[in-house]
Amino acid sequence: MSEPTGVWSYVRGFENMSLCDWPGRTSCIIFLGGCNLRCPTCHNFQLAWDMQSLPVLDPLRVKAYLRDRAGWLDGVTISGGEPTTVPGVGELAFEIKKTGMPVKMDSNGMRPEVVAELLEEKLVDTFAVDVKGPYAKYPALTGKAVSEIAARANMARIFAMAEAKPGAFYFRITQVPGLTQADIDVARSYLPPNHELKIQKYVPPRRTPEHAKPNHEERRPAGNLVD
Ligand code: SF4
Repeated sequence: MSEPTGVWSYVRGFENMSLCDWPGRTSCIIFLGGCNLRCPTCHNFQLAWDMQSLPVLDPLRVKAYLRDRAGWLDGVTISGGEPTTVPGVGELAFEIKKTGMPVKMDSNGMRPEVVAELLEEKLVDTFAVDVKGPYAKYPALTGKAVSEIAARANMARIFAMAEAKPGAFYFRITQVPGLTQADIDVARSYLPPNHELKIQKYVPPRRTPEHAKPNHEERRPAGNLVD
């Protein structure tokens, strides 16, 4: 395999099939490396902050899998890390859309301009956005990567898009250590009408990064399972 370039150089994990990632659908998951946050409870810290330590996948094998399974998969999830930080992520979504399958993208919501563009260009059908907690807790929850003001502004843009485009967004929160029921209620109050906040159980990672403590929800890339 020649060294992948562009967006394909960020593809560092693949899950052939998931019955629970996209509610009501059978989907596969593509994991992209890199993230703009530093959540101390990150479950995917290796993928998020040190993707070079993970092997890159062969784009031809991924494309062949998508093409061959398009008939029986109900969709493809692009996850991370944080996919909206990856240059050319729209090209990856376009490749997937060519197979006829719908695309879901996981996001922390901190790059609403990218979300807006992907929606506008109809490259992503559904966004699953994590609400970390009350805005005042974003600095602590994101390793000081996001201020309270920035969190409020970014999520307000996401919520406005969700209100304008019913069915294109759903929202999740992970009950990480230190997040109380009152915090979750505050986070829920931010959501636009007719949207629910799905509570995800915190799953500690198997090992802890040197500079952070254990955490949370996001699935670990299940290895390079393309066959
Ligand atoms: S928890 Fe999600 S948003 Fe936070 S650092 Fe990890 S991958 Fe990024």
